[in-house]
Amino acid sequence: MAKALGLQIDILSRHAVERRLRQYFKAKSFTSHFIVTANAELYYQASRDPVLKRAVEGADLRLPDSAGVLWALRRQGARRAELYPGVELTQWLFGQDLRIYVLGARPEILSRLADRHIAGRHHGFFTPAEESRLISEINRLKPDVVLVALGSGRQELWIAKHRGRLKTKVVIGVGGAIDVLSGAKRRAPYIWRKWRLEWFYRLLREPWRIKRQINLLRFALAVLLERK
Ligand code: UDP
Repeated sequence: MAKALGLQIDILSRHAVERRLRQYFKAKSFTSHFIVTANAELYYQASRDPVLKRAVEGADLRLPDSAGVLWALRRQGARRAELYPGVELTQWLFGQDLRIYVLGARPEILSRLADRHIAGRHHGFFTPAEESRLISEINRLKPDVVLVALGSGRQELWIAKHRGRLKTKVVIGVGGAIDVLSGAKRRAPYIWRKWRLEWFYRLLREPWRIKRQINLLRFALAVLLERK
């Protein structure tokens, strides 16, 4: 476990994360273990918003999802911190023999996902009034895992609020991973990721993200100002 900007993150190798998840899936009961994939934006939001912070800290596993978070953790002395981006975790889950429910993303994106392994799906543009029906549908299907893609911050709040009612073994906030997996969006090519410029690649392709990316600057500043 390591801490940066007041938020605890688990320091585990990929192998250890996958082992832990296999244990969760093996259990007979529906304990809806909550996994957070923490990127810099979520991290910054949570460091400013006590409700979101509590939601993230209530998770069973918090994994560093982005280069910025890795940098913040390493500055705080967590040398062994390893990235496990949500998109790669999602790909790994799709490669296992699991029944997956996807909640979130746009309807046309969801319809592109192959049926193999998909126990059910629902887009992420529902109203609070539709939530009970949605949760009943998930509970009827009893999937091994629910992937929640509602955007960072919002999805963690949603999970923290509803996980107690969900009949599933694991529930994970996966952000834009479904967009990438469906083939609708491309992940930054390897070289951009290697140079920790994934955020810049995203900005070039989706310039309207600039407003949200200002939070990345705020995050960097807060990390630099934090005492080691
Ligand atoms: N999304 C959704 N409902 C919403 C807002 C967003 O289902 O009300 C989906 C969006 O279509 C995308 C995913 O949430 O598939 C992640 O959104 P975004 O890329 O904005 O989030 P990030 O991963 O950057 O936090």
